[in-house]
Amino acid sequence: MKINYELNEELLQDCINIATGLFYPLSGFMNSSDYHSVVNKMLLNNGEVWTIPISLDLDYHTYMQVVEATTLDLSYNHNTIGYMEIDDCYIVNIQEDILKIFGTDDENHPGVAKELKRDKYRVGGKIVIIDENILNNSLDPKDTKAYFKSKNWNTIAGFQTRNPIHKAHEHLQRVALEVCDALFINPLVGWKKAGDFSEEAVVNGYNIMIKEYYTNLNIYFDTLKTPMRYAGPKEAIFHAIIRRNLGCTHFIMGRDHAGVGDFYGKYEAQELARKIISNYDIGIELLLLSEPYFCTKCSQIVSDKTCNHSIEYIQKISGTQIRSMLAQGQRPNEVFMRPEVADSIIKLKDDKFIKG
Ligand SMILES: [Zn+2]
Repeated sequence: MKINYELNEELLQDCINIATGLFYPLSGFMNSSDYHSVVNKMLLNNGEVWTIPISLDLDYHTYMQVVEATTLDLSYNHNTIGYMEIDDCYIVNIQEDILKIFGTDDENHPGVAKELKRDKYRVGGKIVIIDENILNNSLDPKDTKAYFKSKNWNTIAGFQTRNPIHKAHEHLQRVALEVCDALFINPLVGWKKAGDFSEEAVVNGYNIMIKEYYTNLNIYFDTLKTPMRYAGPKEAIFHAIIRRNLGCTHFIMGRDHAGVGDFYGKYEAQELARKIISNYDIGIELLLLSEPYFCTKCSQIVSDKTCNHSIEYIQKISGTQIRSMLAQGQRPNEVFMRPEVADSIIKLKDDKFIKG
């Protein structure tokens, strides 16, 4: 009996990311033992570090059919795009696992709220793609690695973001360019919570930044399609592993990486990263950088590693403040954001942010 499963856009994207090698060493959706090992120990069964489970959830009806089957056809828009060689079927304890992955089960956490909506029935196994067309135009490690090689770049720093570029990010990027041959700016443009900046806002801002300020520097820019989980420390490691797979040798991890609200400590992601790299080789060097701010005495962007002036001189670069000014159509102070970048976002009017 042929069983078919119609993928939603996000699960299709997981299939694409598995097929291109973006999620290497995964060759499919996680089976029960990989899933539980990742949730409990941040390790795959083969001993490699992996912090975010990638699993396929099914409705009860399909699950009951799949239990008896050896393959599962996968379709999108009712076209078969490939199939799964079923390894095993399992039922997860969503509430318990969420607490382990996110460190909270608070429904006000956008990643938690999203995960709570998934079915507890899961199926794992290798994915085989038969419709190669779905891989067209996807961010592919083969392409990025070939490009870096053609440029003779030996060290490349990856930069993850979900926001338009402001002066703090610019500072981190310039620091990375001082130590590496090149910088790969790779904004995440998959699902994000309502109120986050839209893909257009982020991309427009970077286009103008690269044209006006990063002219002829060793910069590669492309977007990454995978949902934001807002899982803070664990997602930070996941973001680093993806950039390793794309050919980066270094990865920038700043303040509250992949965090949201007050759910994670300012440097909690860096603390987990330090712990992991002292025990495992994750195949990429982490640039654990301090939060940049503007000091009126130093008269430049600095951090607590390069400036020790008292609080009266310190002007924090607040993402929330920049966001609310742009929302009102106003340019933030030039100390915080380049005017050209601000203008490119302001002109998007109602398309600046993800709608609820
Ligand atoms: Zn200072």
